[in-house]
Amino acid sequence: MSNHLSERINNLAPSATLEMAAKARELRAEGKDIIGLSLGEPDFNTPDYIKEAAIKAVNDDYNSYTPVDGYAELKKAIITKFKRDNNLSYSPSQIVVSTGAKQALYNVAQACINKGDEVLLPCPYWVSYSDIVKLADGVPVEIATSIDTDFKMTPEQLEAAITPKTKMLWYSSPCNPSGSIYSKEELRALADVLKKYPQIIVVSDEIYEHINYGVTAHASMAEFDDMYDRTVTVNGVAKAFAMTGWRIGYIGAPEYIARACNKLQGQVTSGANCIAQRAVITALEEPVSRIQYMVDKFSERRVLILDLLNNIDGFKCNEPEGAFYVYPDVSAYFGKTLNGTKINNASDFSMYLLENANVATVTGDAFGNGNCIRISYAASEKEITEAVSRIKAVL
Ligand code: PMP
Ligand code: GLU
Repeated sequence: MSNHLSERINNLAPSATLEMAAKARELRAEGKDIIGLSLGEPDFNTPDYIKEAAIKAVNDDYNSYTPVDGYAELKKAIITKFKRDNNLSYSPSQIVVSTGAKQALYNVAQACINKGDEVLLPCPYWVSYSDIVKLADGVPVEIATSIDTDFKMTPEQLEAAITPKTKMLWYSSPCNPSGSIYSKEELRALADVLKKYPQIIVVSDEIYEHINYGVTAHASMAEFDDMYDRTVTVNGVAKAFAMTGWRIGYIGAPEYIARACNKLQGQVTSGANCIAQRAVITALEEPVSRIQYMVDKFSERRVLILDLLNNIDGFKCNEPEGAFYVYPDVSAYFGKTLNGTKINNASDFSMYLLENANVATVTGDAFGNGNCIRISYAASEKEITEAVSRIKAVL
């Protein structure tokens, strides 16, 4: 009865990452030995010291509605984190805690975008950006990049994409899916372009900040005085703290945007889960060194998977500097027929790997770049080695 549904929902694409993960789960339930490298989810458990904070919160009877924009103590911990890690100063009225960074992004889109406003998305971008923008009646404008610039947008490309309708620029650094990181100098060069267009608001998604392999230091757009008042810094605990299911994300933003997000949330969720919020206070207050063991593991796996993939003909990989994805260009396979299956594009290629190698990946089309597929290496060394060996065998 889809004719009873709104145009809005009928036009909405399902999340390709979650859809692929669901498909892998289904096939596994049918008894297939699927290795899931589609979902960006750490294979670690939430650290014990964070779990204990949640258990304590349950026993301490944290069970009522929280302030819509988050507990005051959590906002304080976020403010301290922003100062400690990013040299950013925010006041409590500039912080909003949400149900994941995903909802934080949704809030910002709803708060800032009017019908027809253009939102610049350097490609590849995180899968949900374009649909979140479309849900707000905005127009995603893709800025193509390639492996030759490490999938990073140049200032010239940014300037060329700006029109009188441009309202926002959204990017993630470290980038999901390419793992690229904009250095402070590169961000400054982009800011120099934006300086000429004061109507443009920037969304800087820094959720992979701590998953950084030490090549390029993390930098925030809001660190520049001339960008601070028009940058929304998005972050969350899902990735670095292995807390995907706890669903806590947050923003530091110009006060008028934070207030708008708070108002929206007040009508939509009444705020994020109380126990998860209490646990995140501990996650953020403890030294970042406590989660380094996970980053070290991701770092070893990155070397492993790059080594293995670079041994397959037709895979061209950039060297990810952060996050836990590789984003190989597999366009060399397009037009070929593999075991009777014609590969026309990245979706065909990803599906071929699922059906023939029992390995779940995500098509690059979902991230605005059709030459690549995304492979998550937040999996065990054994799974990574077996997955790549299976991929090699079916190619
Ligand atoms: N931004 C990026 C770049 C992501 O990869 C993700 C996926 N977790 C999110 C935002 C959303 O994060 P959360 O799970 O906190 O909603
Ligand atoms: N962000 C993760 C990913 O890109 C989780 C899935 C999602 O939230 O869409 O795979």
